[in-house]
Amino acid sequence: MSSIHDYISELRIIDGHEHLATPQIRQREQQDFFSLMHYLDSDFITAGMQRGALSGRLRSDEEKAATFLQYWQRANNTTYANMFRTAMKDLYGFEDWTVQGILEVNDKVKAATNNPDWYREVLYERSKIDLAFTLIQTTQLDYELFRPIMFLDFTFKLRTLKDIHDVENAAGVHVHSLPGYLEAVDALLHRYKQEGMVATKLGHAYWRSLASTNPTFHEAEIVFNRLLGYTLQDGLSKEETLALQDYLIHFIIQRSIAYDLPIQIHTGHHESSVSGNGNILTNSNAELLLPLLAQYRDAKFVLLHCGFPYHQSYLSIAKNYPNVYTDFTWVHIISPTIGKQILHQMIEMVPQSKIQGFGGDYNHIEGTYAHLKLVQNIVGDVLTEKVQEGGMTEKAAMEFAKRIFRDNLIEIYQLDM
Ligand SMILES: [Zn+2]
Repeated sequence: MSSIHDYISELRIIDGHEHLATPQIRQREQQDFFSLMHYLDSDFITAGMQRGALSGRLRSDEEKAATFLQYWQRANNTTYANMFRTAMKDLYGFEDWTVQGILEVNDKVKAATNNPDWYREVLYERSKIDLAFTLIQTTQLDYELFRPIMFLDFTFKLRTLKDIHDVENAAGVHVHSLPGYLEAVDALLHRYKQEGMVATKLGHAYWRSLASTNPTFHEAEIVFNRLLGYTLQDGLSKEETLALQDYLIHFIIQRSIAYDLPIQIHTGHHESSVSGNGNILTNSNAELLLPLLAQYRDAKFVLLHCGFPYHQSYLSIAKNYPNVYTDFTWVHIISPTIGKQILHQMIEMVPQSKIQGFGGDYNHIEGTYAHLKLVQNIVGDVLTEKVQEGGMTEKAAMEFAKRIFRDNLIEIYQLDM
């Protein structure tokens, strides 16, 4: 441990991207040990477990614990597993990897779920997180440590009349034409912003290419009018609706600029629980965004996950585009080795005002805690090495850390702290 590590461990954090349920939701769902699988579940599935084997109430806790241990043996080497181990040990004192041990810690997790102070203890006190942005598809968070970010894919993933109705219902207006639809999307964005949304999120790399053409209004309208004429279920293929999708992506970027909202975009590696293991990795290369990055100089594009495994071109893009911000959400638990390497290069290449250092990307606070601890260590290691190499002074290293864990996020998302 160096003085830089000590400094980092005392920093108050702004967490730029999570999928955390509110304490109320966690309690309502009575979450237990098996609710904390998240990424670990994905590694278990890749190791051969059947999807869903650890969720649901059809099987007893004993059966689920036995299944857990079977796949734990196969996958306990990964960083997802290490995060689970760290969280369980630090937060629950759990080290007894047996069925009996799991049943005992399961009671402790359930008690934590029902403890009204648990979130504050884990996030605010132990992790020193002042604020976390969470994407759980609602702006009604009602929890002081959270701010919402909303996925907007549902506003441009239009394949049927029902998809249009869903947006109408969300916006509370009736739509009879593409101009009316654009007004509805705009009204939604405006309302989300009023309700505290700090950024928009585009997750389309999970279901189509990041590459967008620049269709005319007329080209989009032809598709939209065809959709209006179908019955609820009948629709058009993803390819047939491409002009409409692309037109709407441009529209959302334009309106995000108008509302001064940064735009978080998924780039790189896909999470298999979202993609159903059927991810087309090549859809997610940040290079595919270049025409949009060039066209919208006044947007704030926050490109998530360092574009891994396309991180080299990602770094090159971030070095050249003033409107691109880098973001380490999720990266270090995919591979701490890669995370460390990317950070080394990023310090060498990208102005420090454009770097966001931490987003836990977890759906439970135990994961966020363990992930942050790992990231603080990695950033401490990298900065210590940079100082030893003579690349920066210790004072500059500390300033860098404060920026990427806190100051940059306050500035980019215009947080009122
Ligand atoms: Zn995410």
